[in-house]
Amino acid sequence: MKNDRGLLFVVSAPSGCGKGTILYEILQDKGFYYSVSATTRAPREGEVDGVNYHFLSREQFDARVAADGMLEYATYCGNSYGTPRKEVEEMLDAGKNVILEIDVQGAMQVKERCPEAILLFIAPPSVDTLRHRLEKRGTETAEVIAQRVAEAEGEIACAPNYHYIIVNDVLEVAVSDFRAIVRAEQLKVRSAK
Ligand code: 5GP
Repeated sequence: MKNDRGLLFVVSAPSGCGKGTILYEILQDKGFYYSVSATTRAPREGEVDGVNYHFLSREQFDARVAADGMLEYATYCGNSYGTPRKEVEEMLDAGKNVILEIDVQGAMQVKERCPEAILLFIAPPSVDTLRHRLEKRGTETAEVIAQRVAEAEGEIACAPNYHYIIVNDVLEVAVSDFRAIVRAEQLKVRSAK
C-alpha cells in the first residue's frame, strides 16, 4: 500500500512573499530535501555557493542545459535559473519529499514533465504588501524592485494553474496550511503503476 518514492512539491511565489520563511519552517522536517538551483545571478550578500544556489557562469549554465542536466530552467529578470535533474531523481528514489522553489515558467515545465508533481503557489495578501516587503528587505535597487513587482503581477495571474494557493498574511497560518497540504498528499490514494 505504501509508496516508497518521495513526493515532488513545486513552490512558486512572487519575490518578497515570505516564501523563504515558510520553507525554512517546512524544511525542519528531515523527510524533506530542498533542491538547490543553479543560477547565473550574482550572489547576494550572505549567500553561499552550493547552499543558496550553485552560482554558475553563463557558459557553465548553458553546458548543463545542453547535456540535459536540468529538469527545467527559465530566465527571470535577465538571469537563468534551473533545477539540477540528478539530485532531484536521487532524492525522490531515496524516499525524500523534494521541494523545488522555482518560478512560474519552470513550474509549468515541471507540471508537464512530471504529472505527479504537486504545485503550490504562495501569494501575498496584495501587491502593495509585496512592494512594501521588498522595500523593507532592502536587498534590491528601486529599479529592480519595480521590475520584481511587475513580474509578480504576471506570476499572480498564473496562480490558477497550480493545485493549491496559500496566502501568506499571517506566517503561522501559511505554514500550517502548507503542512496540511503535505499531509493530505501523503495520505492520498495513488494508483499503482
Ligand atoms: P531570486 O533571484 O530572488 O533568488 O529568485 C528569482 C526567482 O527565480 C524566484 O521566483 C525563484 O523562485 C526563481 N528560481 C529560483 N531557482 C529556480 C530554478 O531552479 N528554476 C526556475 N525556473 N526558477 C527558479
